[in-house]
Amino acid sequence: MTKSMSAKDGDAGAVAGIDLGSTRIKVVIYNGSSYLARISDASWDPGKTALELLAKTSREAGLSTPPAIIATTGYGRRCLSHATLTFTEIATHAKGAFYLVPACRFVVDIGGQDAKGIRLSSDGRVADFVMNDKCAAGTGRFLSAMGQALGVPVDSLGSYAAGAEPHRINAMCTVFAESEVISLIHQGVSRNAIIAGLHASIARRTASMVASLHPEPPVAFTGGVSQNAEIVEKLSKELGCPVIVPNDAVYAGAIGAALLAWEHQVEFQ
Ligand code: ADP
Repeated sequence: MTKSMSAKDGDAGAVAGIDLGSTRIKVVIYNGSSYLARISDASWDPGKTALELLAKTSREAGLSTPPAIIATTGYGRRCLSHATLTFTEIATHAKGAFYLVPACRFVVDIGGQDAKGIRLSSDGRVADFVMNDKCAAGTGRFLSAMGQALGVPVDSLGSYAAGAEPHRINAMCTVFAESEVISLIHQGVSRNAIIAGLHASIARRTASMVASLHPEPPVAFTGGVSQNAEIVEKLSKELGCPVIVPNDAVYAGAIGAALLAWEHQVEFQ
């Protein structure tokens, strides 16, 4: 959490942005100048989990009750009946990324269930976008499934891949890639080489997905997979330009939702 908001910042004008993702829920309370961000694993009842996290975050922000204006985004954005506004993930990730990386002209977001590329105009508006939300390959889910098959927690995969010569992974589909990985282990290919190959495959796939949008720097990388330093490095090589991972990159969608809610509030005051 940056731009920290402390209990004394709490005020009646604060708004909330909630990103109901496929694996995690993120809540951001924003008061026009600073924000407080909190995260929780998603559950079988995302609406309830989101409300609990909203109540906790509001208390920590010094609010006596959660904000009246609540904007949702993400895969489960329609699960929260209390939401007063709903925004697409493209709109919120673009808004949040541009706030976190001012002047960024391109956003790559890789979350649990989808991957997207967004081209921005110089004032941060969405100029064009591409999205893969049909297939788990190239998403966080792909990495989590491979980590499970290889006995490595998803947040350690990058360190296994670092410095290893990638073994080419041919399967494009998560299910087939899992079989290929198991077969490679049986052939004696080193675990690090397989993991490096999986990282190379995600970076290649992402770069080819966004190629038609001609990404130009600065490129901001958001979503849970941006926390994997090896993906950052390989993606940067594939794109041929540096990739910036801002603090709070995992909160980009929730931050964007909160900023859009704030603009809406100001407009209708
Ligand atoms: P969603 O919004 O769909 O829940 P997130 O943007 O939160 O998705 O990203 C979740 C994915 O991020 C997980 O599937 C996992 O692969 C990856 N991830 C989460 N934390 C880390 C970490 N510390 N290091 C590497 N990858 C991570």
